[in-house]
Amino acid sequence: MNLFRKSPWIIHYDGASCNGCDIEVLACLTPRYDVERLGIINTGNPKHADILLITGYINEQSQPVVRTIYEQMPDPKVVVAVGICASSGGIFRDCYNTKGGVDSTIPVDIYVPGCAARPESIIDGVVQALDLLERKRKEMKTRRRAIAPTPTSEVPTP
Ligand code: SF4
Repeated sequence: MNLFRKSPWIIHYDGASCNGCDIEVLACLTPRYDVERLGIINTGNPKHADILLITGYINEQSQPVVRTIYEQMPDPKVVVAVGICASSGGIFRDCYNTKGGVDSTIPVDIYVPGCAARPESIIDGVVQALDLLERKRKEMKTRRRAIAPTPTSEVPTP
């Protein structure tokens, strides 16, 4: 059974947003959009998460936290940058404290446009993330098979 597609676990982190995109992420969990009915669960533990949703740009304080969350997530994983700030720094791009978008710190797989990003766009980004997650899982499986030792048919006698 494909558990990734049926029940992806998501972790949401606010890099340094104005909270506009965060409210839209939370709207996805409300009865109007109700992503939980699709099996999508919001977790607070990176070790349980398959998809990292990040809102806001990256600054000095959030950079080490974002790195730690990313490193603690098990492979395969997908990173979704939500909103224009997370994608490129947005209107904060030239501020003294801005490092840039999320890809200034960790690899980003999917960029969700908008200021703020609409719930429909965020859900669309997550659906794209599911396909990518499945592709990454298959690639990992193939790689593991390629490096696995070939089983010996005979046990050597002493
Ligand atoms: S993209 Fe717009 S709404 Fe989202 S964090 Fe940036 S300024 Fe706020």
